[in-house]
Amino acid sequence: MTEPEIAPTQGAAFAKELDDACLQSAMRGVPLAIFSSCAVALSAAAIIWLNQKDQAVFWWLAALIGTNLGRYFSLRFTQARPAIVRKTKLMIGLMIGGALVAGLCWASVPLFLVDITQGGYSGYVVFILAGISAGSAIQSTGIAWNAIAFFLPPNLAMMLIMLATGAPTQTILGLNIALLTYMLLRSTRAAEKNFRESKMAALQATSLAKSLSRANIKIRESNTQLAVLANEDPLTGLANRSLFARRLEMLVSDHAGKNTKVALLALDIDLFKSINDTWGHLAGDNVLKSFADRLRRATGQHDVVARLGGDEFAVIIAGPDADRRALEVAETLMDLNLMPMQTFDAQPLIGCSIGIAHFPTHAQTANDLFTSADIALYEAKAKGRRCHHVFDQSLKDRIDRRLQIETQLASAIASGDITAHFQPQIELGTGKISGFETLVRWTHPQLGPISPPEIVTAARVMGLSEQLTGLMAVAACGMVKQLDASGHTDTMVAINISPSEFKSYSPAAMFSAIAKAQGVRPERLEIEITEEALLDTDAARADLQALESAGFALAVDDFGMGHSSLVYLLRLKIHRLKIDRSFVDGIAKSAANRALLTALVSVGRSLSVDIVAEGVETEADAKVVRKLGCRHGQGYYYGRPMPQKDAADWMAHWDDNTPRKIASRA
Ligand code: C2E
Ligand code: CA
Ligand code: CA
Repeated sequence: MTEPEIAPTQGAAFAKELDDACLQSAMRGVPLAIFSSCAVALSAAAIIWLNQKDQAVFWWLAALIGTNLGRYFSLRFTQARPAIVRKTKLMIGLMIGGALVAGLCWASVPLFLVDITQGGYSGYVVFILAGISAGSAIQSTGIAWNAIAFFLPPNLAMMLIMLATGAPTQTILGLNIALLTYMLLRSTRAAEKNFRESKMAALQATSLAKSLSRANIKIRESNTQLAVLANEDPLTGLANRSLFARRLEMLVSDHAGKNTKVALLALDIDLFKSINDTWGHLAGDNVLKSFADRLRRATGQHDVVARLGGDEFAVIIAGPDADRRALEVAETLMDLNLMPMQTFDAQPLIGCSIGIAHFPTHAQTANDLFTSADIALYEAKAKGRRCHHVFDQSLKDRIDRRLQIETQLASAIASGDITAHFQPQIELGTGKISGFETLVRWTHPQLGPISPPEIVTAARVMGLSEQLTGLMAVAACGMVKQLDASGHTDTMVAINISPSEFKSYSPAAMFSAIAKAQGVRPERLEIEITEEALLDTDAARADLQALESAGFALAVDDFGMGHSSLVYLLRLKIHRLKIDRSFVDGIAKSAANRALLTALVSVGRSLSVDIVAEGVETEADAKVVRKLGCRHGQGYYYGRPMPQKDAADWMAHWDDNTPRKIASRA
């Protein structure tokens, strides 16, 4: 913001304006001066003629009226020509010149026409001359010299003539005229000075007022600029987050209780981060600007289109048909998704995902409406992006549940609400208990049983994976000790671990520390990893290597579900492959599953790795998996996951009965 201009107060800055003002004031007085000069001249001529019958008086009168007419018309002529009027000095010169000629005409009366030293009527002439002198002085305010040029010649002439006689009366009269002239000189100069001073004050005041008003305009402009900055996203020119929030709040409170609706669209550019990473930030900015243009094209004049930050955008649509229009806007944007974006050399296809929520159907406040649209956006992304999703209550319930799980997980771990259950694994040939798998359990006081994948995901999101797996590892060690106590000294206990855990900490270090602290040999613990973990980073592979070196057994969970990388399987010493439940489910009746299981078993054989069939639910399934060559089985048919305290009874019961049963069935 620049400083407001303040008017310069020095008189010099106004010299021209001041001269102009004086000129204008003087010019206004000229017509009346000319008129009175002519009128007085007529009466003076009449007096002279009546008293001395001298024809010269007519020449004088003609000369004086001619001079005045000349003054009058030259004034009219110049006034009509702005180019001349602008030349202030010239105009002042012309005016003073005109007054001087008129003054000289009047001076010719005492000089050539009337002997004013004689008494009688010549006294009237002196009176008339003194009168018009005083009149001119009173009338001229702006330019003193205009009056002086007029009254000085006749007054000087009269004074000199009177003084020249040397007679006492005339000398006194001459001195009086001198005094009058002096007073007139002073008063005209004083009048001009006063006029100039008051005019100057007025000019300064006007100038100050003008500069203040300029300063005001500038302040207003700056305020407008500040308002724009406060409300606008500088890159795209769309409304920014703060304006968006205020408008949403306003629209929702305006429409509350009325029969109108507000729709909110939350938008996200798909994979914007990779655009930035691949093409650079300049290209990223271009994409944001082009996307803003798309939004402007797809929306109506009264819709609020905002950039909330990063690649997050939003549109607010209000009105009785907001629902329908929101869908129209979403569909237009989906069509535009299919057009290449003309932003940089590559012209990629850039799409967006959209979440839509409606007021008052889905939310009662601006804040809830925004959250609902955001939840719907999350769902659109989960559906595979490049699509739109309208909010529904079940979505909200799911999110609420997830949030509740996430926020309460830490205290559930600390309080012991999260526990471990153990599911037995059977050696199919002998019926012997070969191991137990540790599975996480949490029964939430309000939500009921929480599924293990939900717990595991929440732990990852909250950065609690190490604590959760540590808890399971401690429970597994407890189970090993119980097995030892009941004479099952070679029965293993398995612990599950997710691939993502290798990114946040070292499971090898953690398991080693816990096994040591619990006094359990690593050989009694089996770590179940999915195939993805094998494919993951070098860090994961190094950690797996460390687990193997430390003596832990490794099992590949959900084998056959994809991702399989035999190369990595060969590099690590894998103890067992666990075949996923989906291949085992109903295997007695499914020829396709039998073929698949046969193939997976043969992979295991060629790698010299034992196979565990998971999800064995029936006697028939158990028979088939055994026949197809699986060495171990796990499933409800043998035993469900159970708390450690129940495992002892279950084992006693199993050991007493099952080997015989198995043998009889084989
Ligand atoms: P998983 O590792 O494949 O575990 C086996 C799952 O199959 C368990 O489900 C078990 O209860 C279930 N199951 C066992 N036998 C049968 C059967 O005969 N029929 C059927 N229908 N299901 C059977 P659960 O306990 O719900 O665990 C689900 C998944 O959660 C596990 O699959 C595992 O991937 C994960 N998980 C469980 N506990 C943990 C844990 O402590 N840490 C980690 N990282 N993941 C865990
Ligand atoms: Ca498992
Ligand atoms: Ca499994």
